[in-house]
Amino acid sequence: MIYQRSSQLFAEAEKVIPGGVNSPVRAFKAVGGTPIFVKSAKGAYLYDEDGNRLIDYINSWGPMILGHAYEPVVEAVIEKAKLGTSFGMPTELETQIAALAVSMVPNIDKIRFVNSGTEACMSAVRLARGFTKRDKIIKFAGCYHGHSDSFLIQAGSGAVTFGTPNSPGVTAGTAKDTLLAKYNDLENVKTLIEANKNEIAAIIVEPVAGNMGCIPPVKGFLEGLRELCTANGILLIFDEVMTGFRLARGGVQELFNINADIVCFGKVIGGGLPVGAFAARAEIMNYLAPLGPVYQAGTLSGNPLAMAAGLAMLQALDNDREIFKRLEEKTAYLSAGIEKVLKANNVVFTINQIGSMISVHFDANPVTDFQSAAAGDNETFKKFFHGLVAEGVYIAPSAYETWFITDALTYEDLDFTIQAIDKVSKTF
Ligand SMILES: *Cc1c(COP(=O)(O)O)cnc(C)c1O
Repeated sequence: MIYQRSSQLFAEAEKVIPGGVNSPVRAFKAVGGTPIFVKSAKGAYLYDEDGNRLIDYINSWGPMILGHAYEPVVEAVIEKAKLGTSFGMPTELETQIAALAVSMVPNIDKIRFVNSGTEACMSAVRLARGFTKRDKIIKFAGCYHGHSDSFLIQAGSGAVTFGTPNSPGVTAGTAKDTLLAKYNDLENVKTLIEANKNEIAAIIVEPVAGNMGCIPPVKGFLEGLRELCTANGILLIFDEVMTGFRLARGGVQELFNINADIVCFGKVIGGGLPVGAFAARAEIMNYLAPLGPVYQAGTLSGNPLAMAAGLAMLQALDNDREIFKRLEEKTAYLSAGIEKVLKANNVVFTINQIGSMISVHFDANPVTDFQSAAAGDNETFKKFFHGLVAEGVYIAPSAYETWFITDALTYEDLDFTIQAIDKVSKTF
């Protein structure tokens, strides 16, 4: 494949945008080379500026669960745009999407919309602190909750890729209120709680981790967190920005039948427009301004285009009771196919998969936390990534990312991908 135009466009972008990108993982630093510039996308495919077609396994990092340019979402946005694109005043649409989200997700009474997953997690933590009147939070190494200061304490994903787990600009004062725990390690969490009695407002967790590859919780981990939180007056925050409306209608709360106190959303809930949200029981949500004392606001929050896209997306998911089963089947098929060809080519690997999330790690040991995810062989990953791109298959340009399977992928696409992996893994 030829990437002449992409390279030119990247050179132009670098002159006026730091690193040529508006979000660092797009810059290919972890894999080398220059980013591919997208011209358009439809269904399972990306079309780049050089005219190449790529089967897409990133899907805008999760939102496009039904494939790119999904017709009902596109139509909804076009229709709404004609009526005005922002008012800063309430619209009926906001209540419609809120009511639908509340009906789909267990254990929430009210939801507030923001503009990104970052904002959702940041606001959820502020709400938890206000509600409990405590300052500290526990987060897990390798879990990513957006780029707000409290979370850039050895964050996963982009920050790890760059080898700068603690970003300059985050103050020591902020960092001291974030306690870091090991994912899937309840004893570690207990120790932190003991050492900080009555000081911890919230435990925030990706209930299925997706920002250090895909790492499902081990048996008893989420149940244990729930018990510890209840026993110690701590609020349990499920960051379902990635898993919400993806692993089940009601997200991980439904999948594992565990109630969180606050749930964060993003990605799928916006149908590909910039949307985040956080939700909880009324008792907690009523603590927010204008009802309660915790301040939170947004000029473009609940924006009509974003809400129209999100509503069309949630309606499509709500009306298709087989969707999550279908996605799981496709992903399991892909997983089995990859396993077969990697084994045949004597590659050392571990595949993690749950629902429509999957990651391939070039390490023989189980990948259950950040440390084991970091043990993977990045040199092999680089060859894997560039080899797949050359074959017309696009996965995330970092070994720490999950692949997202969409409903637009056909079994022919999956077979094509498995064959490409077979070919590429012969060159390792
Ligand atoms: C993507 C992501 C975020 C951040 O969302 P943005 O919209 O990028 O700000 C937060 N938490 C998780 C689990 C995510 O995957």
